Amino acid sequence: MIRDMAAGPRVLLKRLRELMAEPLEPQERLDRIVRDIAANMVAEVCSLYVLRADSVLELYATVGLNPNAVHLAQLRLGQGLVGTIAASARALNLSNAQEHPAFAYLPETGEEIYHSFLGVPVLRAGRTLGVLVVQNKTMRHYRDDEIEALETTAMVIAEMIASGDIARLSRPGLELDMTRPASFTGISFNEGVGLGHVVLHEPRIVVTNLFNEDSDEELRRLEDALGSLRLSIDDMLSRRDVAFEGEHREVLEAYRMFANDRGWVRRLEEAIRNGLTAEAAVEKVQSDMRARMLHMTDPYLRERMSDFDDLANRLLRQLMGRGPESIAASLPKDAIVVARSMGAAELLDYPRDRLRGLVLEDGAPTSHVVIVARAMGIPVAGQMKGAVSMSENGDPIIVDGEEGTIHLRPQPDLEAAYAEKVRFRARRQELYRELRKRPSETKDGVKIDLLMNAGLAVDLPQLAEAGAAGIGLFRTELQFMVASTFPRAEAQEKLYRDVLDTAKGRPVTFRTIDIGGDKVLPYFKGSVQEEENPALGWRAIRLTLDRPGLLRTQIRALLKASGGRELKVMLPMVTELSEIAQAREIIDREVRHLSRFAHHLPTSLKLGAMIEVPALLWQLDELMQTVDFVSVGSNDLFQFVMAADRGNTQLADRFDPLSVPFLRVLRQIAEAGARNHTPVTLCGELAGKPISAMALLGLGYRSISMSPASIGPVKAMLTELPLGELKAFLDDNLSGPAANLPMRALLQAFADDRSIPL
Ligand code: PEP
Ligand code: MG
Repeated sequence: MIRDMAAGPRVLLKRLRELMAEPLEPQERLDRIVRDIAANMVAEVCSLYVLRADSVLELYATVGLNPNAVHLAQLRLGQGLVGTIAASARALNLSNAQEHPAFAYLPETGEEIYHSFLGVPVLRAGRTLGVLVVQNKTMRHYRDDEIEALETTAMVIAEMIASGDIARLSRPGLELDMTRPASFTGISFNEGVGLGHVVLHEPRIVVTNLFNEDSDEELRRLEDALGSLRLSIDDMLSRRDVAFEGEHREVLEAYRMFANDRGWVRRLEEAIRNGLTAEAAVEKVQSDMRARMLHMTDPYLRERMSDFDDLANRLLRQLMGRGPESIAASLPKDAIVVARSMGAAELLDYPRDRLRGLVLEDGAPTSHVVIVARAMGIPVAGQMKGAVSMSENGDPIIVDGEEGTIHLRPQPDLEAAYAEKVRFRARRQELYRELRKRPSETKDGVKIDLLMNAGLAVDLPQLAEAGAAGIGLFRTELQFMVASTFPRAEAQEKLYRDVLDTAKGRPVTFRTIDIGGDKVLPYFKGSVQEEENPALGWRAIRLTLDRPGLLRTQIRALLKASGGRELKVMLPMVTELSEIAQAREIIDREVRHLSRFAHHLPTSLKLGAMIEVPALLWQLDELMQTVDFVSVGSNDLFQFVMAADRGNTQLADRFDPLSVPFLRVLRQIAEAGARNHTPVTLCGELAGKPISAMALLGLGYRSISMSPASIGPVKAMLTELPLGELKAFLDDNLSGPAANLPMRALLQAFADDRSIPL
């Protein structure tokens, strides 16, 4: 029965295939297409409206309506029945169109004599490109199989629009929506500006073979592919590293549920029976789903729908027998990767010299891929909802990592403005490069150590490029975060050795693994129970003292890697001095063990603590006497002093670290260091902004550690800084009753008066 009904669409699709292959002018092709659709569906009218960049739907072809109305009749998005279909991305099936409240009468078309109306959106990757309509004089209701057939036809038209064939019919100033410039605002995840061309991270597979020769054969192919897909998901679920852990598992469980979803499978089969290949059927059902997803507001449901989306992509790959494409081969020289989300390791698959930026629909500043992108020094903009479906491979794009915006298919003047911005930044970089050769000294001759923060092998070349005096903070947990299982002892030792080799005798401070809080390892189930306040929870030194095996392995790797050289080890999140004593015991035991086996030991071993937990502020002298050095982790210290979550965007600008209370805290630490002759550095984000770096120097800090990109701007500041004057200025302002002084503004004015570049 269903097969008989499907004979109509099959004949039509065959006809459309012939028409698409013929060497016709685009208008002629469209005219013939609407004529054939009308004939096949026994409709008196068939019309195609195409969405223009100015949000107007223009009549591009018709049979049945007044032919003179073509390219003249138009409706705004949301206006009339056609505008409603386009805006909602849903079909409308009406036996008496004129009774519908949205009906808008266009006298030039002569459509008043037609009563029944069926319109479907022309969709591609969930985006509406136009509307396809059939109409009849009699008041009739179109059957489900007719809706299905028209939707399938609309898909063919979507491909024609995307291929550029139809765009040739647009007039200057009235371009199609597909080519419209679009800007998005999200969040900046890494500074910098990138101009280039879109590379979709998981490129939409372009289904070129739309029409099937043999439905039964296609149904069999679909069944096979679904079978392998289900098996691969079951396989992933049963893997040991996935089986125990929360969120990842949930996603896979959802995949499994969807892969067995009857509704989905039925829609796929229906599309095949209507004449599509299995690939085209997946694409059609996926596009319908995406369109619906765009109108969904519940974040949970949206998330689930995008799981479906991923699943459809996997199924397509399965059907086309394609593994992950070899990336480098087809990459433009100025690639800007656009992804919904991405793993850190996947980004490392792209050759660095061709990457100009990264755009993510999801992501957070602390997500692993962002950490890696920052290490690679490329601009990153995140939370760009809708960026993937609005982009096509090869579209020109600008990523503005300063503003947290992207511009797709930018107008020439915008592009020129950004090109100027890039040139300006390049000139500034040139200036910083020249500064590299100059000594790192204030205007009044005080020597300052500018160190850099690092954590991955990709960071290492920056040590020489940035002209850093050493590595003030090596975040060893990053190696653990980008791996899929615990890095083995040999891998740890190799990384540490590479770091020390690259440093060529410059000091390197290794921080022991600082996981927990916002730094989760997908393969390590930390706390037994869900933590309500992970930042205050079982993390960093607390965790490693409870799991001494972890710390022991790491210490041994560090000791072996630094044989014959100095080793500096730093403990994160110290709260009590006894924690330092416990760690020292573990280190001593490892030293004894290695010397028993005649290993080459470090020439000296220095142990330091990070000041991140406020409790240390009331035991500063004892702390300074216990350790060889301290480093202020201002990111954590600030969040705990102010009771303000460092990852909460709503609180991001609420409290200022350059306020009197926090500056007093920082000064107190510097003074305690000086009093006890214990070296003090600071390695949080405060060190990397010229204005706060200036304040730190004024408070007594002589060594600060920052991201490599900040070293140039900070050095440019300090070479112009009369440090003695700043010290006096800060002493004056912080010593009296001053809690409400606007210190940031005062510091800015101090710098402006002396032409210090901030
Ligand atoms: C800090 O807290 O300031 C710090 C440097 O450590 P992390 O940012 O890695 O927590
Ligand atoms: Mg910290």
